[in-house]
Amino acid sequence: MRKAALFLPTGGLALALIMACSPDTPVVGADDAYIPYGKRRVDANGISAPVPGSWDPITNRPYGAAGAPTASLNQPPSFYGGTRRPHVPPSSGYQPPVNRKSAYSLLKQVRVEKDFLPYRARGRTRRRMSPRYITIHSTQNWSRGADARRHSLALKRSKLGRLSWHYTTDQDRAVQHLPTSEQGNHADYDGPGNKYSIGIEMCENRGNSRSATVDRTAKLAAWLMYQHDIPISKVVPHYKWPRWGKRPPNKNCPHFLMTNGRPGAKWQGFKNKVLSYYRQISR
Ligand SMILES: [Zn+2]
Repeated sequence: MRKAALFLPTGGLALALIMACSPDTPVVGADDAYIPYGKRRVDANGISAPVPGSWDPITNRPYGAAGAPTASLNQPPSFYGGTRRPHVPPSSGYQPPVNRKSAYSLLKQVRVEKDFLPYRARGRTRRRMSPRYITIHSTQNWSRGADARRHSLALKRSKLGRLSWHYTTDQDRAVQHLPTSEQGNHADYDGPGNKYSIGIEMCENRGNSRSATVDRTAKLAAWLMYQHDIPISKVVPHYKWPRWGKRPPNKNCPHFLMTNGRPGAKWQGFKNKVLSYYRQISR
């Protein structure tokens, strides 16, 4: 569906180019009858209108019904009969399939360090998961030094109780705390956010570059979409998962990507970033 949506404007553009560049003026209409081009008729009010079916030398296409627009870039011209398609040169929109190597090169840019919680750590749920969503958080931990490695240490030492998630990102790296085949505990207790989503926490410690962190997170999310066949519609903010019994049930998280506490233009911008990385490796 995305491919079709991408192809249409490109195809339309190529078609317009072909038509604009075509050196030959057709003299035979769709029904093989000779039609003198540029023929017009004048109605009772003295207004000149093209004769339907005659050739329009300006658009290089037959006129439609009198008064109706004849040129539309969104539709194939009627004289192709709906069966013949114009030849689209490979240079205009053809995308070669990208091999897996470039997906791995994206992963390399993320710089993932695996540092799993020990099996006995309190954050280990030891429950199997088949990920369907990617949930984005931010740590809201502004202390200096509260970077990805420091969070990893805290998780490994069970300093955060039963809390756990899969990755923490900062300006320099992403640290993985849990295998993506195991549930974390970062969203909504026994809800679908925990049961089916990979949790990513973005660091907010002082001195850490937010834009570099967001960029790394977008790359990581794109890689995970690729690896687990997760669509962009299922890359969600923590906000998506209500926590029953809490007020408000939907958390303002990741707060710096929310608009007035809920997903808006900033969140959409982040998703566009993820999608642009995903497209680099997926087609
Ligand atoms: Zn959160």
